[in-house]
Amino acid sequence: MQAGVIAVQGDVSEHAAAIERAAAAHGEAAEVVEIRQSGTVPDCDVLLMPGGESTAISRLLAREGIDDEIRDHVAAGKPVLATCAGLIVAATDAKDERVDTLDLIDVTVDRNAFGRQKDSFEAPLAVKGLESPFPAVFIRAPLIDEVGDGSGVPINGGDGGRQRTADPDGDAVEVLARWDGDPVAVRQGPVVGTSFHPELTSDSRIHDLAFFDTVEVSGQ
Ligand code: GLN
Repeated sequence: MQAGVIAVQGDVSEHAAAIERAAAAHGEAAEVVEIRQSGTVPDCDVLLMPGGESTAISRLLAREGIDDEIRDHVAAGKPVLATCAGLIVAATDAKDERVDTLDLIDVTVDRNAFGRQKDSFEAPLAVKGLESPFPAVFIRAPLIDEVGDGSGVPINGGDGGRQRTADPDGDAVEVLARWDGDPVAVRQGPVVGTSFHPELTSDSRIHDLAFFDTVEVSGQ
């Protein structure tokens, strides 16, 4: 499996180690490529979008022409795991004009909703499809405050009639986990996004869910 880690900025080495660990647990070898330029994403089977600083990441993705390649990857149905700043970039709206979102998941996120670095914390999180809580590490984490139905219409909160840009025939957004009532893990089609950092723990179950289909979520 060729695993591309978006490496323009952020916690790249942690993501590389985490996908290697997760693949090994399934008897597969992940060949990790760090993506800083266009031209490599089309060769990747899966993509990881790390945490970091979403303003910088989105600017560099656009400058290098990697943004369209990521969109094509998702349009081809190939999986992506986007964590924290990665989720912000993958969203439909980050409520911040400095972030050029990729519209991969029909959600609106609130950057830094969980406060500043000092407000980082770890918590056991109930995740749909997982039998026991996941040790979720939140670092200046975004909160998902609107979840679309994938058809371009917000179905939860927000400003009602605002036009969304998600694929009108796309999959619905599924909330996989909530913290204090708000969504912190979502899935839409081949894309899983988390507010927290599964790559910072040795627990590979979020990677299993995103890439190895060993966790049955739908219908639960
Ligand atoms: N709050 C950061 C941002 O807006 C993300 C923090 C993180 O990825 N740990 O980009």
